[in-house]
Amino acid sequence: MKAIMYHYVRPFNPDLPGLNHLHIDDFRKQLDYFEENFGFVSKEDFANAFVSGKVPDGVILTFDDGLKCHYDYVLPELKARGLWGFFFITTGIYETKQLLGVHKIHMLLAASDHKKIYDQLQEIVTPEMLSDKGMDGFTTSYSLLTDNEYSMEVKRTLNFYIAYEYRNAVIEQLLSLNGLTHYNSVADFYVDHTEIKALHDAGMMVGSHTVNHFVMSKLSPGEQVIEIRDSMKYLESICQDIPYRSFCYPYGGAHTFTPETELILADNDYKMAFSIEHKDIHAADVLSRPFALPRYDCNTYPYGQVRKSLVQ
Ligand SMILES: [Zn+2]
Repeated sequence: MKAIMYHYVRPFNPDLPGLNHLHIDDFRKQLDYFEENFGFVSKEDFANAFVSGKVPDGVILTFDDGLKCHYDYVLPELKARGLWGFFFITTGIYETKQLLGVHKIHMLLAASDHKKIYDQLQEIVTPEMLSDKGMDGFTTSYSLLTDNEYSMEVKRTLNFYIAYEYRNAVIEQLLSLNGLTHYNSVADFYVDHTEIKALHDAGMMVGSHTVNHFVMSKLSPGEQVIEIRDSMKYLESICQDIPYRSFCYPYGGAHTFTPETELILADNDYKMAFSIEHKDIHAADVLSRPFALPRYDCNTYPYGQVRKSLVQ
């Protein structure tokens, strides 16, 4: 079984010409490709695999970050094909009314020259802000074909190395330096409560992607409990009968969570959690490591490349 991960899936957006996205036409072609080559796993067979250990062949689809385009473009496509998917929602944005840091960074990189942003960042950050720079695994994050050396370092610094107490102020300073004082609002950018409920009612699996989209391994166990427990409580207050609790690690990869994170998920009645590791899900995964399920980025397969942004 293969789990596939998607982020932005949409037509070209003239308001954000530099935003990397999987074009909806390519998404459709990729679904055709999966249908022809692997087939799709039913919701029932997927859930049963965690009991029986019988892992069916085929593909399951996962969509991260609760993006508006998932409701506008992905949901109609899945419905038309009789397919289902996981939709992992970050719940904190409904309280903060702010874009997540990870998405503010996308806005920044979409709108401005990457070397310029990199240089500005070097001016702003001090060594004491980069307390997590030495953490295992972070230096190898972001090696996507679409990133250049400057955008990779900007993302690594702002998503992994920087201590959270400084992060938002630094991102805001960069946005302001690049004239981005107004950008898409939470209401434009993410699914709202009604749309979360509509995804659920259409047979999609709504799961947690934390409250604040922090790297779990950067948080204390107590902070992780809050992210894991409160996000699901929030989603269950919107969708009363979610069949089982599922989770997806922000950023993903083995370095973004710890054995303690997996224990906290189990303690909070989650059934599974998805990471990012480009390999199939086997019986050993569902039976022994259900909180570290591997997923492929959609760009691993044909038609899954993001369309090249106009600004690089
Ligand atoms: Zn995410």
